[in-house]
Amino acid sequence: MDLFEYQARDIFEKHGVPVLGGVIATTPEEARKGAEELIGRGNSPVVVVKAQVKTGGRGKAGGVKLAKSADEAAERAEEILGLDIKGHVVRTVMIAEGAKIAQEFYFSVLLDRANRSYLAMCSVEGGMEIEQLAVERPDALAKVPVDPRVGIDQAKAAEIVAAAGFDAEIAPKVADVIRKLWDVYAGEDATLVEVNPLVLTEDGEIIALDGKVTLDENAEFRHADHGMLEDAAATDPLEAKAKESGLNYVKLDGEVGIIGNGAGLVMSTLDVVAYAGEKHGGVRPANFLDIGGGASAEVMANGLDVILGDEQVKSVFVNVFGGITACDAVANGIVKALEILGDAATKPLVVRLDGNNVEEGRRILTQAAHPLVTLADTMDGAADKAAELANA
Ligand code: GDP
Ligand code: MN
Repeated sequence: MDLFEYQARDIFEKHGVPVLGGVIATTPEEARKGAEELIGRGNSPVVVVKAQVKTGGRGKAGGVKLAKSADEAAERAEEILGLDIKGHVVRTVMIAEGAKIAQEFYFSVLLDRANRSYLAMCSVEGGMEIEQLAVERPDALAKVPVDPRVGIDQAKAAEIVAAAGFDAEIAPKVADVIRKLWDVYAGEDATLVEVNPLVLTEDGEIIALDGKVTLDENAEFRHADHGMLEDAAATDPLEAKAKESGLNYVKLDGEVGIIGNGAGLVMSTLDVVAYAGEKHGGVRPANFLDIGGGASAEVMANGLDVILGDEQVKSVFVNVFGGITACDAVANGIVKALEILGDAATKPLVVRLDGNNVEEGRRILTQAAHPLVTLADTMDGAADKAAELANA
C-alpha cells in the first residue's frame, strides 16, 4: 500500500526522522486555517502548499507552491485542489512549514527482489529528477546493498554516506537520519522508504522534505494502525467488500465472474476464459477470486455475493479442484450458498468440479437441479460455456 506524503510525514515523525510541521486541508478555507496555525508556530514565515497524490513529479506539474501568508495559502490551495496530476485528481493538500534549502539530497531504501535483499540508494544530488540522474550519471547515485539480518546500523549508514560522497561536516548528521529512516522501514514493515529531497537547511539541519512510503500489506496483522491509512475513496467498492469477508479478490474489467480454489488454478482459469472469450464476442474474466483450500459454504456464498454484485458480470465460472475439501463438500457449499443468496443469485453459474469425490459432488449438484447452474466436465468446456452465456 502506497501512502500519501502527509501519512509518510507522520510516520517519519513517529520514528524521530526530522520533518517540518504539516497539516492537511481539503478546501481553501481549511488551507487558510492550517497556514495560520503553522505560521503562528513561529518556525517559518512561509508555508508550502503541496498536492497529496500518489504519484511523483508534483513539483513539475504545479502541485507544490510557496505561500507567504495564510491568504496566499488559500489561493494556492484553490489552484491546486482539483488539479489532475498524471491522472490523479487532487482532493487534499498538505500545508507544510517552509524550509530554507541550502542543498537537496536523495535517499531511499527498498526491497531488492532480484537480489533477495534490501538496497539503499543515496545521492548528494537530490531534487526532482532522480530517475534521470540514475540513467544519465549512474555514478552519482550510490547503491549499497543492505543485509536484511543486520539492517542499517551505524557502520552501514556511514558506508552509505561515504559512497554518496557527503562532505565530512554533514556526513554524521545525514547518517543519523538514515538510521532513523531505516527504523521506519523495518519498524513499519515497509517495502519502500524514499526521501526526495532530503535537505540541508541554511541553519545546518537535515530534514526529510518529501516522503514516499510503501507498506507491505502482508504485514498488516502486525500493525493495527495501518488499516486506517488506506485511501477508502480510491479502493474499489467490490474489493473493499471482499476484503471485509477476508476474500482474496481482485476486480478486473470483463464479464465472466471467476471463483476457484488455489491461486494457480484461478490464474489458469483466467487464461482459459480469456481464450474462450475470443470466440464469444471478446468477453473476458471479470475478477480474480481464490477461495482457498478449505472453503466453507459461507465462504462460497460470500464469494458469489461479491461477484454477483459486479454489474459487469453476466455469468460465473466456478472452477474447483477437490483436495482437502472434497468435491461433495464443495457441491454442498454451492447449493447452500445459492440458498443463502436466494433472490440475490441472478446470473448463470457454470460449475466444473474435479478431484476427490468428484462423482458424489456432481450427483449433489445434479440432484439439486438449481435453474441457474450448469455442470461442465472439463475446464475448457466450462470456460466455453461461461463465455457463451456471458455473451448471450
Ligand atoms: P515532488 O515534485 O512531487 O517530488 O515534490 P517535492 O515535495 O519533492 O517538492 C518539489 C520541490 O519543491 C523540492 O525539490 C524543492 O525544491 C521544492 N520545495 C518543496 N518544499 C519546499 C520548501 O519548504 N521550501 C523551498 N524553498 N522549496 C521547497
Ligand atoms: Mn519529491
